[in-house]
Amino acid sequence: MKVLVPVKRVVDYNVKIRVKADGTGVDLANVKMSMNPFDEIAVEEAVRLKEAGKANEVVAVSIGPAQAQETLRTALAMGADRAILITVDGPIEPLSVAKLLKGVVADENPNLVILGKQAIDDDANQTGQMLSALLGWSQATFASELDLGDTTAKVTREVDGGLQAIEVTLPAIVTADLRLNEPRYASLPNIMKAKKKPLETRTPDDFGVTVSPRLRVIRVEEPAGRTAGIKVAGVTDLIEKLKAEAGVI
Ligand code: AMP
Repeated sequence: MKVLVPVKRVVDYNVKIRVKADGTGVDLANVKMSMNPFDEIAVEEAVRLKEAGKANEVVAVSIGPAQAQETLRTALAMGADRAILITVDGPIEPLSVAKLLKGVVADENPNLVILGKQAIDDDANQTGQMLSALLGWSQATFASELDLGDTTAKVTREVDGGLQAIEVTLPAIVTADLRLNEPRYASLPNIMKAKKKPLETRTPDDFGVTVSPRLRVIRVEEPAGRTAGIKVAGVTDLIEKLKAEAGVI
């Protein structure tokens, strides 16, 4: 069984985001970039399937600038077997990503695609769902447990107020939620080995997909700064302030 794992290069989750002064987007100059955290979870899950003998090949794919090679090398160091980079400069929307992934699926014939539930840059949470629709495949989103069989997969989903257990027919799309697993750190020997693993470069033209945007970003703003808190003398004072100043009781 082959597993495809799409991984996106995004601003590292530890970086404090700065909005550009002209409000056209986020400032990416000299900012640390890393693999989207939910995609690390997706890679980990695919590698665990391989280690458990349930998958025999894990292919990582990224759509982005040439530097996304680093993201793919991380996936290879975690245990993916080979990688595909589809080079695109500038931002790319989930629908274009899904169309390109559909092309990769046609070439690679995986039984399972594990994506992150969302990319933490745009928080779109759309690509897996769109890919499932384009392929006509089953989808199990927000997975916190995956039990892969030969023809079906049992997936526990994190839904509002609890967990939902479903069974999907393969081939299927699964999107990884936070509690699916704890991704490993790549060891130094595996980082060295990853440099020699195959990484193929393609372009959107190879798949007959145009990636021109359909959405226009009108404005990006920083959230309003929080005002400083105050100390209250005691419960009576707190209740008084909640009534008189905050007006919440
Ligand atoms: P999104 O719909 O943008 O929130 O992304 C959901 C998931 O789709 C991510 O966690 C990735 O697994 C995948 N994905 C989105 N954009 C890309 C990209 N440019 N390259 C590879 N995978 C992507």
